[in-house]
Amino acid sequence: MRSRATPATDRRTAPARLSLTRRFGLTSLIGMTVVGGALVATTSQVLHTQAVREGVATAEALTRLATAEVPGDAFTVGMLEPAQDADLDALLGGLDERLVGLRLWTADGAVIYDSADVDGAPSAFPDVERLDAVRLRGEPAPRVRTHIDGLAGDAGGPLARSIEVLDVYVPVEHAGQVVGAAEVMLDHGPTAARRTQAIGTLAAVAALGLLLLWLVLFRSVHSASERLQRSAMENARLALLDALTGLPNRRMLLDRLDRAVASAGRTPGAGAGIGILLLDVDRFKDINDSLGHDRGDELLVQVATRLMEAFRGRDLVARLGGDEFAVLLPGVTSVADAETLAHRARGVFTEPFVLGGMSVHVETSIGVAVLPDHADDARSLMRRADVAMYTAKQHRLGVAVYDAADDDSSPARLVLQAELHRALARTGELTMHYQPKIDLAGGRTVGLEALMRWRHPTRGEVEPSVFIPLAEQSGLIDELTRFALRTVVAQLAAWAPEQRLPVAVNLSAHTLASEDVVDTITRLLAQHGVDPSWLEAEITETAVVADPGRVVPVLRRLSAAGVRVAIDDFGIGSTSFAQLRDLPVDVLKIDRLFIEDLGDEATAARSRTVIKAMVDLAHSFGMQVVAEGVEDAATAACLRALDVDQAQGFWFSPAVAARDVGAGSGRVVLQP
Ligand code: C2E
Ligand code: CA
Ligand code: CA
Repeated sequence: MRSRATPATDRRTAPARLSLTRRFGLTSLIGMTVVGGALVATTSQVLHTQAVREGVATAEALTRLATAEVPGDAFTVGMLEPAQDADLDALLGGLDERLVGLRLWTADGAVIYDSADVDGAPSAFPDVERLDAVRLRGEPAPRVRTHIDGLAGDAGGPLARSIEVLDVYVPVEHAGQVVGAAEVMLDHGPTAARRTQAIGTLAAVAALGLLLLWLVLFRSVHSASERLQRSAMENARLALLDALTGLPNRRMLLDRLDRAVASAGRTPGAGAGIGILLLDVDRFKDINDSLGHDRGDELLVQVATRLMEAFRGRDLVARLGGDEFAVLLPGVTSVADAETLAHRARGVFTEPFVLGGMSVHVETSIGVAVLPDHADDARSLMRRADVAMYTAKQHRLGVAVYDAADDDSSPARLVLQAELHRALARTGELTMHYQPKIDLAGGRTVGLEALMRWRHPTRGEVEPSVFIPLAEQSGLIDELTRFALRTVVAQLAAWAPEQRLPVAVNLSAHTLASEDVVDTITRLLAQHGVDPSWLEAEITETAVVADPGRVVPVLRRLSAAGVRVAIDDFGIGSTSFAQLRDLPVDVLKIDRLFIEDLGDEATAARSRTVIKAMVDLAHSFGMQVVAEGVEDAATAACLRALDVDQAQGFWFSPAVAARDVGAGSGRVVLQP
């Protein structure tokens, strides 16, 4: 699916990473160039100094040789004999091939010999600065300069060549005194050329080495940055994808929906609506319970795959959690269009699913809502689709489009229904509390009634009188009953034997209509190793009366399985005595209305008579009698006098959490 391929975050972070690596590459390259340059420059300087030092040493040696031939007073006199001049010419001729020329200066700057001068009348000007330095310090003074070397009398002419020379003024001493200087000119060209070559080689090697080093560094930084980037991307991806199916999760769906709504808001009237399909796999819990969680997961993965194949391109298939999926349809043209697509989604379930080699038929309920037809913001669009989905589920429609007329009557109710459905999937929202039943003769707790509690995350405690009827209308009651049974049986198994009391669970008429409740109970008991006699089933009298043909056989099976059966809220229905006698019932629970009447002087006498009749009748059929809603000591005493076996009510204890059972509850009945 196209829209899954690149989560938004990928695109946003990519340029940032590039520029980071690039910045590193650039700064490190500049740094290395500077280092390389400095290296070459220093080396060049060192080589130069060394070459000059060598040259100076040569110049000193040559000076020693040349001045050995010259008498010391020639410098004071300021001139050389022609024979001496000729001798020097001859000596210098074969001395050192590097020697370009030699001059002898007197201390005051007169030239007494110049090798370049053939006719013996030398005339030249000294480098006064260096001559002075030599005279004063007695140390040689070198300088590299360009020298025009030509044939005699042709200096600067076409045959002249310009060469680089190392020109050194070397002090000439006589009797411990500096009497003049020898200016030795050595060809510096070859030395300079060697130096340039050495520097060139060094520069090349350094450049190559540094480049290689840089490449290695750059590569490791680049790959490290890529690795970091990849793991950041992976994390971002995981936060937006469902781990089981790989589909976008609720967060990503909402994000996409928000964006679609925002862009629809920017281009209103473009004929582009936004559709949402909410899918809920019917009876997924059954599949999970009967085939196991692995098979359940397998089913979800297969559903995801099929949905993805059915919706490609712009549409976004997401898993919201549990067995709920959603398809975001950006750009639907009409409600009818969205409905067609909903049927396409439903078509995905026509073929059976193969789970562990077994072919399983699964159905789905789909709610459809379209913006702007049904809602004008993302949240309410989702909620409307949810409401539509429950309409589809409740009336077994397969697909239901959100209908404001339906919803108008009680939108809150449908929302609550949706939330109850969700509560079933979450842990902690729904719990079972236990109200003690007190033996009126002995004053001890002899049993418990399990009552469901729903702590809604935002609404707080929701009354069972609100959510139980709601669940009955929507068919959710079966799941609630299973939850109650699971929790109670597990709790019975968890309690230590000496702490354990029989627990009654309320079974609604709807649940009793489907016979498998007996199988569910016996399986649960067997699973937890709990004896059936610890469990009691409470069924309201009205439920029995409404459909005895279906309910009575279920009660018989329960009874046969060893589970005690109680008729709840007895007295307000119209069970005939004959009917009651034939029922496989162990307990009769007198409705709270009669008990309340006991406290009212006007009705107390009549109520006592009715209760007494019920007690006698029940006892004659071998049933026990329980009075509900006992709120004060007087009522408790009165019921005891009327031979009622057990009582339940706020006077003794309200329903409490499992861990509080037996802790301080069970007020002792006062003996009259
Ligand atoms: P019920 O089966 O008749 O349960 C007795 C109700 O009376 C409980 O209300 C209990 O808290 C309340 N009660 C107990 N003692 C007194 C008293 O002294 N005075 C008064 N005024 N009330 C007392 P609760 O828990 O709100 O449940 C209401 C109804 O919801 C229950 O009536 C039952 O029909 C249904 N219900 C509760 N839990 C379940 C369940 O797990 N499954 C099914 N199917 N229905 C349940
Ligand atoms: Ca009850
Ligand atoms: Ca009751």
